[in-house]
Amino acid sequence: MVDSLSSSLRRVVVLGTGGTIAGRAASGGDNIGYTAGQVGVADLLGGIDAPEGLVLVTEQVAQLDSKDMDFGVWVQLARRCAFWLAEADVAGVVITHGTDTLEETAFFLQAVLAPDKPVVLTCAMRPATSLSPDGPQNVRDAIAVAATSSAQGVTVVCAGVIHSAMDVQKVHTYRQDAFASGDAGPVGYVEEGAVRRLRDWPRSQAGGNSRILEADEKAIALWPRVEILTSHAGASGALVDLLLQERAAGCADPMRGLVLAATGNGTVHHALEAAALRAQDAGVAVLRATRCTSGRILPRPDDKLRNAGALTPVKARIALMLELIGKAG
Ligand code: ASP
Repeated sequence: MVDSLSSSLRRVVVLGTGGTIAGRAASGGDNIGYTAGQVGVADLLGGIDAPEGLVLVTEQVAQLDSKDMDFGVWVQLARRCAFWLAEADVAGVVITHGTDTLEETAFFLQAVLAPDKPVVLTCAMRPATSLSPDGPQNVRDAIAVAATSSAQGVTVVCAGVIHSAMDVQKVHTYRQDAFASGDAGPVGYVEEGAVRRLRDWPRSQAGGNSRILEADEKAIALWPRVEILTSHAGASGALVDLLLQERAAGCADPMRGLVLAATGNGTVHHALEAAALRAQDAGVAVLRATRCTSGRILPRPDDKLRNAGALTPVKARIALMLELIGKAG
């Protein structure tokens, strides 16, 4: 739905992708037995008035439970963000999204678009049909951030807190304030429509990664497969070796990258590490990312496997995938 507007008004575009925020349950008292991705984004804005001087535009990009997010939706979403952000009168974009993979989508969009206008993902922990849904306030807050003229980069707004795409992680299964930013802390807060900022917005970068935006279905199907394996007490190299066997047998989509969800400061069980080194020798790009929710991996001189710094395993996987796509030329 695109509203017409006078030249003095600015637009904020709200892109819908589904999630609990668009979820429906059989009864208002049920906050967990719902189906995600049911209510259209235009309906989610039903009771929300546009702040003064703003016109809200809605567009449904996808309608899914974000646990099932895939690369095709990411590319489509990135394209729609790029399209709208290029419009002079668009102040920013809001994306309604499920909480489960929100941090991955946010990281992907920041890596690909690095926008100089705000792209604000928001969500809910309770479905739209809840007696007391959290979605409407989150959307209001996200619109306030998207309309902030100094804002830039990809952020996540949930429960009045603004997180950077680089740092945000879902940390709670049930609470409405389900996200945290680890050591970095939040970018700021939204209080009654006003943004109180504590630190810099995520950095923008001219141009972003236009190759990703141009990817069609065929190209996406060829994106390098990057697996994540966790190091833990009693870990083995069996799964790595199976993946290497598959590779050696010439399977259609061999593992090209491997992220080790490592313990502490990037340490890996010796059996898994030995297998990961075999994978690295066989040409697989291997990266260690810490399982810890805060801190970064501090490098040591005897490291044989690269580390992902402060990135979580799921974000390290996206970073490695984009790196491998870039290398493929
Ligand atoms: N499974 C839902 C989703 O990620 C959870 C949520 O949105 O809270 O779409």
